[in-house]
Amino acid sequence: MPKQEARTWPEDTCVTNPSPSLIERLQAAASAAREHAHAPYSKFKVGAAVLDDQGRVFAGCNMENAAYPLGTCAEAVALGAMVVAGGKTCTHVLVIGGEGDLSPCGGCRQRIAELCSPDCIVYALAADGTALKEWKMADLLPYAFELDR
Ligand SMILES: [Zn+2]
Repeated sequence: MPKQEARTWPEDTCVTNPSPSLIERLQAAASAAREHAHAPYSKFKVGAAVLDDQGRVFAGCNMENAAYPLGTCAEAVALGAMVVAGGKTCTHVLVIGGEGDLSPCGGCRQRIAELCSPDCIVYALAADGTALKEWKMADLLPYAFELDR
């Protein structure tokens, strides 16, 4: 991947001014995963990458199914990979989609909330790497469903 200049995040959503190296690392993993997306119905490929609290990156892509409810989002696949590797908590999530706007669906917001740190940041990028949005997870899903552990 070509080296890119630091992104400028839209001011209305910029919360952290993330380091270019962190975004590049997550973007590379999410973009590579996106290339393998199984999206024969919507043609909307999505890649996601999560950074766990050990500094490891896990990626996922969307996997559609002819039986539509069985489709799986990229974020769910990435989080599943983290859990399989023994990861407990993610601190950053990056999602990369197509040309238009993008944000994690409601179900994925709950999935991320289950496995993220309280200060987790979520980034959305267009397929060409354009920074779309950046949120604190707590702002994306302020009343996440929780149970006592
Ligand atoms: Zn989703």
